[in-house]
Amino acid sequence: MSFSSLLREENKMTKFQDLGLKEDILKGLDDLGFEEAFPIQEAVIPVLLTGRDVVGQAHTGSGKTAAFSLSMLQEIQPKNGIQGLIMAPTRELAMQITDEIKKFGKHTGIRVATVYGGQGMGVQLDALDRGVEIVVATPGRLIDHLKRGSIELRDVSHIVLDEADTMLDMGFVDDISFILDLAPEDRVMSLFSATMPTEILRLSEEYLKNPKQFLLDADDLSGEGIDQSYLVIKDRDKFKYLIDFIKPTKGQAIVFCSTKYRTRDVAKFLHQEKFDAVAIEGDMSQHRREQSMGKFRSGKADILVATDVASRGIDVPRVELVINYDVPNQEMAYFHRIGRTARAGAKGKAVTFVSYSSVGDWNIIKRQIKVPIKDLNEEMGIEIAIPDPLKRQMPSRRYGGQSRSNYSRGGRSGGYGRSGGRRDSRDDRGGRRRYNDRGGNRNHYGGRSRW
Ligand code: ADP
Ligand code: MG
Repeated sequence: MSFSSLLREENKMTKFQDLGLKEDILKGLDDLGFEEAFPIQEAVIPVLLTGRDVVGQAHTGSGKTAAFSLSMLQEIQPKNGIQGLIMAPTRELAMQITDEIKKFGKHTGIRVATVYGGQGMGVQLDALDRGVEIVVATPGRLIDHLKRGSIELRDVSHIVLDEADTMLDMGFVDDISFILDLAPEDRVMSLFSATMPTEILRLSEEYLKNPKQFLLDADDLSGEGIDQSYLVIKDRDKFKYLIDFIKPTKGQAIVFCSTKYRTRDVAKFLHQEKFDAVAIEGDMSQHRREQSMGKFRSGKADILVATDVASRGIDVPRVELVINYDVPNQEMAYFHRIGRTARAGAKGKAVTFVSYSSVGDWNIIKRQIKVPIKDLNEEMGIEIAIPDPLKRQMPSRRYGGQSRSNYSRGGRSGGYGRSGGRRDSRDDRGGRRRYNDRGGNRNHYGGRSRW
């Protein structure tokens, strides 16, 4: 059953009290106005509280953060060393998780520190010195701390990999293995993501003990609550259409681009047109990344232009439109990108701009979308003026496309596994290693690094 239909069945809703959570946690939830547990929370919290490992899959915006944080807060004792460890792929997500746990745990006395690259060591060492019970980390910087002894994992009893399919993907898996080898065997561990490919489920067996799997919408990568559409246009016309889609939008919007260069460019164009836009990409200084996210979260900026560094986990409830200015380089990224809207059962809209050379790639993604998706060329009467050899790949019936031709990328179906080898740059610093050796990844913008 889907998330919103579960939500609609109100008599089935579980109150947080019924999950056996402590009074001081319930107080924190009450402050936030959380009344009932969302389905993934209701499913997972009791199991984690019995000490069993968990794999939790539920769609974007369905409350996975609270699902893993609340049971951790329940079990952890103040002033007893680092007992909880949460790992996430990007700095901004790690910070967001920290903020959320701090709110849930406001009355518990449990302290949380974020450990991530790009920030000076000093701030993090000071926080660690004062004492914390939960660490939220990106893997690279956590390893730096482990190596210098500023973090020890001997008291850790609860471990979470958020966005687990990315964390066990080849860019990170060696770092994760290294870290987990330093943690006690006797621990409760859980993996969470909206996308849980079978390769990852298989790989998870190496790290989890007899996990209970909750795959709430595993067959339904549909983007529930999101009105999805696409438009095939010339690359040089994209900006004009971007403005057309953004203008009538009342809430906030995120514009995803395929490269850092494009991200900067689109943000610049939007400034010239007097939009309140901020950008985030992996080559920006950490200070500027935080500045951008801060402005966007607080609503001072209406538009966030981003690489896939912002595609996973970021929760900004007012986002009502996601524009894929470029087709994503990896099909899972599509579902994560559009999942930045329609959070917590809300509604949202996602439009994908497909340049002529990306039609093959788009067809591969489109085949996985299980709900009707609007063809805006038909709806808006926009002709596809495309050279002959490309026509057979076109997504609309007019051109009978769907063939996976030489315009699609070689490496799409693979990618998960342990074959990647260690990368030089760890955590999300620049993301240079993320997609480089997936085979192919041909993209006419020639982006060497994705994030
Ligand atoms: P996911 O990790 O599944 O993508 P998040 O954990 O980021 O989703 O949660 C999405 C949004 O839903 C957040 O803004 C969060 O505060 C909100 N939320 C989570 N659980 C509840 C709840 N039980 N009641 C109300 N809001 C909730
Ligand atoms: Mg999340």
